[in-house]
Amino acid sequence: MRKETCDSCGTQNHFVSQRKSYRCTKCHAPMDWRFRVTCENCKHANRILSTEQMISCCSKCDQPLDWSINPEKHVANQIPRKTRAAALLFVAVFAGLSIKAIIDQRLTLPYGRYSRIKLEFLNAEIILPVVSLLMLAIGFGAMIADHYDRRRNEWLYRRIINVSLWSGIFLYFLSAFFGHSVG
Ligand SMILES: [Zn+2]
Ligand SMILES: [Zn+2]
Repeated sequence: MRKETCDSCGTQNHFVSQRKSYRCTKCHAPMDWRFRVTCENCKHANRILSTEQMISCCSKCDQPLDWSINPEKHVANQIPRKTRAAALLFVAVFAGLSIKAIIDQRLTLPYGRYSRIKLEFLNAEIILPVVSLLMLAIGFGAMIADHYDRRRNEWLYRRIINVSLWSGIFLYFLSAFFGHSVG
């Protein structure tokens, strides 16, 4: 017999019939008898009407719920070769610029429309722009790593990519306030 915990009072109810089991036996709050499926990817607790709905996707991360029930059906996401090549180029450029800036204690970055404004950072001023470049490198690096990681953790990569790229862009423009214009 199916059991379900009441969301309101925590009492365990047994499914008798659609009509009799509609409300909790203790607090009389309406019962949710839909099946619970915890998404393996993002841990979101989904509710589905029937087992046929396994083909549907997680309401939070959009990955098929079927993967959570039948792990053997999981297909790791593929990142196209061109995207990976571009990401690798960005990692090399951003990481390279950061390393060079740390060695030289000097960094020049382009800003503004068509990158016409060049701002220079010296000594301690390089910290903020270097952190922004490293965040961007991590974001693009995660894109490449996601392709080679066959486990069910696409959600984790998406989060790392979003957080590092957006904070990288934010810090890049924030650093503009601390740079000196050159040329
Ligand atoms: Zn209850
Ligand atoms: Zn999910």
